Amino acid sequence: MRCYVCNGEMKKGKGSYNIHRKGYHFILDEIPAWVCENCGETYFEEDEVEEIQSLIDELDSRIKKINKYDLEYV
Ligand SMILES: [Zn+2]
Repeated sequence: MRCYVCNGEMKKGKGSYNIHRKGYHFILDEIPAWVCENCGETYFEEDEVEEIQSLIDELDSRIKKINKYDLEYV
């Protein structure tokens, strides 16, 4: 597998997944990923991305709930 940024060699390793959304920042460490030996770019496979995406959906709905509770005090 080749890096899509620098075309360097990519090896199986672990990377951090950073999520910056309205209302929260979320960082996942040690996620299995392809890591470029040259530039350090990480690439996550579909399975991991899908899991992370459902985690974000879950977070989004919970954050919405928290904001809803907050409105009761305004
Ligand atoms: Zn690279």
